[in-house]
Amino acid sequence: MSEPFRVCVAGAGGRMGQALAAAIDGHPELVLAAALDQPGAAGVGKPVLPGSRVRVGDDPEAAMAGADVAIDFTRPAGTMALLAVCRRLGRGMVIGTTGFNAGQLADIDHASADVPIVMAANFSLGVNLLRALVTRATAALGEGFDIEIVEAHHRHKVDAPSGTALALGEAAAEGRGVTLGDVAVRSRDGHTGERPDGAIGFATVRGGDVVGDHQVLFLGDGERIELGHRASSRATFANGALRAAGWLRERSPGRYDMFDVLGL
Ligand code: NAD
Repeated sequence: MSEPFRVCVAGAGGRMGQALAAAIDGHPELVLAAALDQPGAAGVGKPVLPGSRVRVGDDPEAAMAGADVAIDFTRPAGTMALLAVCRRLGRGMVIGTTGFNAGQLADIDHASADVPIVMAANFSLGVNLLRALVTRATAALGEGFDIEIVEAHHRHKVDAPSGTALALGEAAAEGRGVTLGDVAVRSRDGHTGERPDGAIGFATVRGGDVVGDHQVLFLGDGERIELGHRASSRATFANGALRAAGWLRERSPGRYDMFDVLGL
């Protein structure tokens, strides 16, 4: 049997970090080797989960010295700091954090020349299948249907539209052969004028404890098609991220997403 693949969970005290630490327990191939959070976070110095032998640290260098791969669900600034360490030490990375700006995305691309990186706005199997279905539906339906993407998340989410909504927008844009940035309408307020032809619109709902709902509407004359996904537990994202981490073991440097991991 091969040695277990050692994982560092970054953002260990967060909602996803806690879900990951729980999901990795008893995993056949992966072992939790380190847990990381930002200096001053409540959990630093304490066991990552009650009874765990892994304590949460705040030094990325020390954490990654004893790990083979990092799984990062933090904030863009946290991801970028950990990326620099992983690049220096030659460690792969699974990035689940969302809300990066163009410069940060370019830096992630550069780093993927040296280390393998799986990055996805959503690690669930269902959402990745939905992306593929949206591209197919968009191509089949043509210009006669207006595309709107509606997403809902819990009240603590800090970025909008969600990374998943944007990924679904990219999937629709691909089906139309256009660039999302050229056609996206990310919010509407006041006298907006009529809907531009070919727009891909986004609407955001925030509140309560919603884990993540996404709906893609194809609105035609006299009919509409609705494709959607609802996550009811963060375990679905955690299990997908662990699958991606295990998959990275055999990978050369490069930038990958869940389509690659799932072979979609
Ligand atoms: P959270 O706020 O519950 O947890 C964030 C964690 O990151 C905390 O432990 C916090 O202390 C830490 N952190 C914040 N800033 C940091 C920094 N600068 N350096 C290091 N650590 C830092 O958030 P969450 O709900 O767990 O979500 C985390 C991220 O993952 C968000 O960007 C969210 O959109 C994304 N997310 C992605 C998926 C997916 O499938 N890709 C699923 C859920 C959430």
